Amino acid sequence: ENAFAAMLPLIEDVQRPSDSIAAPLFAICGRPNVGKSTIFNRLTGTRRSIVGDEPGITRDRIYGEVEFDGRLLRIVDTGGVVPDDEALIPSEIFRQARIALEEAEAIVQVVDGRAELTQPDIELARILLKSGKPIFLAVNKMDTEKISTDAENFRQLGFKQVFPVSGEHGLGMGDLLEAVSAALPMVEEEEVEDLGDIYVEEVEETDETKRERKLRSHGEHISKETRVAIIGRPNVGKSTLLNALTGTGRAIVSPIAGTTRDAVDEVVMRNDHSFRFVDTAGIRRKGKTTLMAEKLSVIMARKHLEAADVALLIIDATEGVTGLDANIGGYAHESGRSVIIVVNKWDEVTTGRMRPDGKDDYEDGKAPADIKAYTEQVRDALKYLDYAPLLFISAKDGINVEEVFKKVQLVARERRKRVTTGQMNRFLDTVEFEKAGVPYNKRLRIYYMTQAAVAPPTFVLFTDRDVKLHFSYERFLENQIRASFKFIGSPIWFKVRARN
Ligand code: GDP
Ligand code: GDP
Repeated sequence: ENAFAAMLPLIEDVQRPSDSIAAPLFAICGRPNVGKSTIFNRLTGTRRSIVGDEPGITRDRIYGEVEFDGRLLRIVDTGGVVPDDEALIPSEIFRQARIALEEAEAIVQVVDGRAELTQPDIELARILLKSGKPIFLAVNKMDTEKISTDAENFRQLGFKQVFPVSGEHGLGMGDLLEAVSAALPMVEEEEVEDLGDIYVEEVEETDETKRERKLRSHGEHISKETRVAIIGRPNVGKSTLLNALTGTGRAIVSPIAGTTRDAVDEVVMRNDHSFRFVDTAGIRRKGKTTLMAEKLSVIMARKHLEAADVALLIIDATEGVTGLDANIGGYAHESGRSVIIVVNKWDEVTTGRMRPDGKDDYEDGKAPADIKAYTEQVRDALKYLDYAPLLFISAKDGINVEEVFKKVQLVARERRKRVTTGQMNRFLDTVEFEKAGVPYNKRLRIYYMTQAAVAPPTFVLFTDRDVKLHFSYERFLENQIRASFKFIGSPIWFKVRARN
C-alpha cells in the first residue's frame, strides 16, 4: 500500500454527479418570454432535471437531457429566474451569454417570431456571434407552416442557421436538433481507473482556464486581468468604493438596454495588472424601497459573483456583520470565487482616532486594539470565510483603498496556484490522519490525492469507495493543506473518486 494510504470517514454513499455524464452540452438563450422554457420542455420531455442545491451558483440554470438519433445530448436553459424588473433584462442577457459561452459547446438563441426584435435580442446575438462557437437561431411561435417564411426576416441578426420552430406545437424541433447535434463534438467516456499510478497529473478545465484558452485563441492577452465583484447589502459603501478604486469623475454607465458588456465593466490598470470591475452599473444601482434594495443586493451579488474571480464583500463598520451580510457572504463562499472581506466606514467607528493603514496621528494608543476586537467579531460572524483576508478601509476618505488592489492581486495569484504531485506526496507523508479523530467503523481507504484544478483549487481523493467526505474531516484536510500551501482568499474544493 501507499505510505500515505489513510482512513477517511464514511458517511453516505452518494450518486456520481450528473456532470460526469459524458454528453456534450448546448445552451438555450434569449430574453424573457420568447419561449425558452417551452422549447426546453418540448425537447427534454420528462427528462428535465432542475439543479437545485449544487455548490456554486448553478441554481439559476436548468439542465436536461435529450436523445437525438441515438445520441445523448445535454441541454442547459440559461434563462433561470428572471427578476421582475425590466431594467434588469440587459444584465440578465449578459449573464446568460456568459453561462452559455463558458459551459456549452453550441448555443441556440431563441427569439419571438411574433414580435419585433428588441435591443436585448440584438445585443445577445452580437455577443454570441463574436464567440466563434456554433450558434443557431430559433425563431419561435411560428405555429403554422404559412408564417414560417417570416422567420427569414430574422436573418438580419446575422445568423447563418435560422430555424422556424413552435415550442408549443413541437414544430421544427427535429431540424433544429439535427443541426445542433451535427455541430457538437463526440465526447470520450471518462475512465478514472485508467489513471493508473500516483504520478498522474490530471488537469480539469475550470471556467477560468476554459475562458483563458478561448481568449488566447482569439489572440487576447488576459493572463494578468482579474475580474472583481463588489458585493454587499445596500449602503455599505459599494459605489463609494468603486469610485475610489476607479477614480472619481467617471461617467456612470447606463444600465439601460443597448449598453454593451464592455461599457458596463470598468477596467483599471495598477502595477502592470488589470482589474476589471464587473457590471459597475449593477453596483451603482439602488432599489426604491429598503426591502427592494435588499433583495436586489442579493440578486446582484449572485450575478456579480458569476462574472468574477475575486469578490470584495463589503461590511459597514458602523453596523457590524448583519444577517444579510452573512447571507451574501455565504453565496460568495459557495461560488468558488476568492473573497476579501472589506470593513468600510472605519473612519466612523474610530471617530478619526486611528487610521486602518496604521498611521496613527493621534495620541490614543489604544486604537489598534479596536481592530483586533473587531476582527474577532467579524471572524466569528463569518466563520466559513476564515480564508478571506480582512481589510479595514474608509472608501470616503480613500484610506487603505490602495491596499485593496494589492490584496486582490495576491488572492488572484493564490487561487491559481498548483501543487504538483511530487509536492502533494511529500505533503501527505506529513499529515497525521489519525488526528482527524474518526471512529474506525466510519473509515475509508484513500490511495492518493491530486490537485485536479485551479480557481478554485480542487483536490481529488482517490479512494476505495464512492462516498462523501465527513464535514469535519474535510475541514481537517483543508486546514492541513492551508498550513502547507496557504491558498489565501480562495475556498478549497474536494472531490472523491472511487478507483474501482
Ligand atoms: P421564456 O421566458 O423564454 O422561458 O418563455 P416561456 O417558455 O415561458 O414562454 C413565454 C410565453 O410564450 C408563454 O406564454 C408560452 O405559452 C408562449 N409560447 C412559447 N412557445 C410558443 C409557441 O411556439 N407559440 C406560441 N403561440 N406561444 C408560445
Ligand atoms: P452602496 O449602496 O453600497 O453602493 O453605498 P454607497 O456607496 O451609496 O454609500 C452609502 C452611504 O455611505 C453614502 O452616504 C456614503 O457617502 C457613505 N459612505 C460610503 N463609504 C463611507 C466611508 O468610508 N465612511 C463614511 N463615513 N461614509 C461612507
